[in-house]
Amino acid sequence: MKFRHFNELTTADTHSDFHIHSNYTDGKGSIADIVKRAEEIGLTAIAITDHIREDSTYFFKYSSEIEDIRQKTQIDVLIGFESRIKSFNGELDVDRTVATEAEIKIGSVHRFSIGEQLRDPASFVKDVAQGLELEISLAGIAKGDFHILGHPGGMSLTHFKEFPLRYFEKIIIACKKSNIAFELNSAYHQDVYSELKNILKKHNPLVIFGSDAHMVEDIGRWLFLLKDI
Ligand SMILES: [Zn+2]
Ligand SMILES: [Zn+2]
Repeated sequence: MKFRHFNELTTADTHSDFHIHSNYTDGKGSIADIVKRAEEIGLTAIAITDHIREDSTYFFKYSSEIEDIRQKTQIDVLIGFESRIKSFNGELDVDRTVATEAEIKIGSVHRFSIGEQLRDPASFVKDVAQGLELEISLAGIAKGDFHILGHPGGMSLTHFKEFPLRYFEKIIIACKKSNIAFELNSAYHQDVYSELKNILKKHNPLVIFGSDAHMVEDIGRWLFLLKDI
């Protein structure tokens, strides 16, 4: 997969969406529905990136369905997944064979693994949650088992409405160094885009557009949100 650096992006790149969920996990639309919607709004490239865990069993049925459907469309459709960065070692919660087969891999911070527990970010005070989210993100980037860091800062933004800009900057610098794409996510970054833009411009990492769509109406949201990059 060839991604582009932030300063090379044009509005043509908003005709893509590399973070979409189908009804194989918690999305509402089928793979066929997703491709149909992407065609309707004029996207040129998408990735279907359902949630995966080490014990997930659906992946090979899912990937062959995507392979069949993509023969019948002009859109580039990639077979992907989104997996939780499961530890402070930066490992993903995914089976090794699945990790080898997927064309596009998103690693995201979701709940935090503390000891043997999976803890909701909301169970910590704000600055602790933000610090943990930063550490897990940086660990995942350093381990390098994925192509895209999913919704950076997203847990803190969801629960505390903010993620420090200097933390974003550390993540962006690490992404640049490791050639991992920073996901601009329309569900999480819409309100911070104008501030993020300056840091992205300065460090110029690889960047992709994603929606985290769980309903087909949300696919390709940046196309409607960003008239200018
Ligand atoms: Zn996620
Ligand atoms: Zn997602």
